[in-house]
Amino acid sequence: MDLVIARPEGLYCPVGDFYIDPWRPVERSIITHAHGDHARMGNQHYLAAAPGEGILRSRLGQGINLQTLAYGERLLHHGVTLSFHPAGHVLGSAQVRLEYRGEIWVASGDYKIEPDGTCTPFEPVRCHTFITESTFGLPIYRWQPQAQVFDEINQWWQANAAEKKTSVLLCYAFGKAQRILHGIDASLGPIVAHGAVEPLNRVYREAGIHLPPTIYAGDIEKNDPVLRKALVIAPPSAGGSTWMRRFGDFSDGFASGWMRLRGSRRRRGVDRGFVLSDHADWPGLLWAIEQSGAQRVMVTHGSVAVLVRHLCEQGLDAQAFDTEYGDDEEEPLAAEPALVEARS
Ligand SMILES: [Zn+2]
Ligand SMILES: [Zn+2]
Repeated sequence: MDLVIARPEGLYCPVGDFYIDPWRPVERSIITHAHGDHARMGNQHYLAAAPGEGILRSRLGQGINLQTLAYGERLLHHGVTLSFHPAGHVLGSAQVRLEYRGEIWVASGDYKIEPDGTCTPFEPVRCHTFITESTFGLPIYRWQPQAQVFDEINQWWQANAAEKKTSVLLCYAFGKAQRILHGIDASLGPIVAHGAVEPLNRVYREAGIHLPPTIYAGDIEKNDPVLRKALVIAPPSAGGSTWMRRFGDFSDGFASGWMRLRGSRRRRGVDRGFVLSDHADWPGLLWAIEQSGAQRVMVTHGSVAVLVRHLCEQGLDAQAFDTEYGDDEEEPLAAEPALVEARS
């Protein structure tokens, strides 16, 4: 018997009568992390890992009916033993472990293997069936160590500051922005945060994550001299918008796993692309699957067909799971041609 099945509302556990990251409103939901496509409004009850409480409440409303468990803490519900285990993706992200009559399933949500200092690092969990994402499930995706990417960002920032140009770095506002703030060399100059980023910085700081001081962009006058040496962190939607005009002379960059694709920097129309992802790369996905010890693998969102085929060739029982999860790295503008280009 399957512990998790795909239903129109989301991934469903029939024995426990609850959903994992449902995309339609349900009575009982278990949430792996607070990205908008996994944590949606309108559920009557939410269960999540404790470190994600602040983010979930700030995004879904302080009044949501939310119960939390510490990582590793167990809860028995309708005979199903439930627990959360770190997924290393963003603050509070978790893999959900379900055990029923000796059968163990893990739904991993989104995950990343390399520890980044802004959330509890990924921990492999042994199971019979592993539900995995495959956002970057193509062999071309192999991340450089993040220290190398942060060196590139620091050098770009320093070079711009020397020319009295503002550095505007576009990235996803929840998770990626805080990881960049944590990883860059804050001694290089002042750091300015867009209004979509600053409230999330506050939640991270309240959770005890060290981020360097940031200035809220709304508190700065147009052409303030402080901007000449500043690094500005802003969401992708700010790119090319009128919001950017306040910076006068600036250089812009984009940080995302998709920057690995040839042409994606040009299509975004930015000066620099930095390949930095909060998801596992191809070797990372395969490592996590192997570490789980699972013989059966269900693949959710991303390059599903490629990963399923590869796992089947390795002798695993792999299949696609239809979900409505999206992309929290901001897809390249012309996704399809880019992927074809990358594969060939
Ligand atoms: Zn995510
Ligand atoms: Zn996702």
